[in-house]
Formats: sequence, C-alpha cells, structure tokens
Amino acid sequence: MKNSIFIFFGAPGAGKGSLSKLCVNEFGWTQLSTGNLCRKHIEDQTEIGKKIDFDTKSGKLISDSLISEMVEDWLINGQDGHQLILDGYPRTLGQAEFLHDLLRNKLSHYDLKIIKLDVSEQILISRLVNRLVCSNKKCQAVYSSLENSSLIPKDIKLCDNCSSLLIKRNDDSEEVVRERLEIYNKNEKDLISFYNSLNINLIKLDVDKPINEVFEDFRKIVSP
Ligand SMILES: [Zn+2]
Repeated sequence: MKNSIFIFFGAPGAGKGSLSKLCVNEFGWTQLSTGNLCRKHIEDQTEIGKKIDFDTKSGKLISDSLISEMVEDWLINGQDGHQLILDGYPRTLGQAEFLHDLLRNKLSHYDLKIIKLDVSEQILISRLVNRLVCSNKKCQAVYSSLENSSLIPKDIKLCDNCSSLLIKRNDDSEEVVRERLEIYNKNEKDLISFYNSLNINLIKLDVDKPINEVFEDFRKIVSP
C-alpha cells in the first residue's frame, strides 16, 4: 500500500484518540499530535517553540501558519516508510489548504485518506462528561466512568497503565462540552466542503459502538 496520511474527522469525544492509539499499537503507524508537538518544541527551545511560547504567554492563539510550519517540519523530516495519522490537524480551512499544497508538491508520495467518525451528539455528550484522564502528562490515557464503557478503569481513581491519579478536565462539563461541539461542528463543515470541492472522498466510520468493534470496521477499510 502506498504511504498514506490519515486524517480523522470527529467531534471531541468521538474516539479519535482511542482509534489512533490502536492504529499505533496494532499496525505500527505513527501518530502526530499537534498538542504534544507544540509542547516538545517549547521544551526543546526550537525557533518554532520560542514563537509558540511567546504567542501563548501573550494570550494569543497560535497562528495557523505557525502550526502549519511545525507540521510541515514534522512530516518532511524523518517520517518516511510509515502510515501517518494527523490528530488535531487540519483544524481550520487555512490549515487544510496548506496541507493540500504540501501533498501536491513536497509530499506527493503520500495519499490522503479522510475518515469521518460518525456519532450522535447525545452519545458524545454523555461520553465527554464522563471522561477521566490520567494526570500524568507522559501517559495521558483516557478512561470513562460510564458503566457500559470498555474504557472503564480497574480502579475508578487510578490509571491502569501508570497508577497516577485520574482527573476530570475542567472543559468536560456539559455546558462547555456543548459549546465545544458547536465550534467543532462549524469548523468541520468548512473542512468537509473544502474536501468535497476537491472531490476527495470521505470514508465514514460508525463509532456509535465499542472501540474494539470500531477498530475491526476500520481494519476492513484499510486492508480490504
Ligand atoms: Zn497513566
């Protein structure tokens, strides 16, 4: 199979993180998390890192062009021979256009595959307000306090992997969750019409089911 770059479209709580993690563990793919990459640049004090640090400290949003510069650097340097997953990118129309240019020019040896994670809003909200995350920054495992979830931890207070304390994120309250979904839906709409206008096919994946079943469906999509 030609090297592919996978983009997962899905609202917060749709399970992009869990699906990406399974692809990394089961298929040996490489995942880019823009959030982690930002932190790494800041830690390593790179030129990009210094700019990001400056923007965040002055209360500005990190600009599209800065994020794109960082993603380009990551994609071009040493990611050959892998299937790649972009997590959290592209998030805006400007980023999607940038990536499209990159794929036509410097990265023409990659195929772009867009997977759209389909889930009802009601399920999303209940997943998000019941989400628990590991407080260990190096681990960041995600759990659920929902009784029928496959992500329920063995001990409701502790991470299965590293035994750190599990916490609820402040932005996982129902009110904030509804706001985040609204913003997400608006951005996603722009991105989807962009890809539709280029006749790029979106592959739909039903994620209204346990993650292991979702992963089996996904496996059929990538290895028909
Ligand atoms: Zn942990």
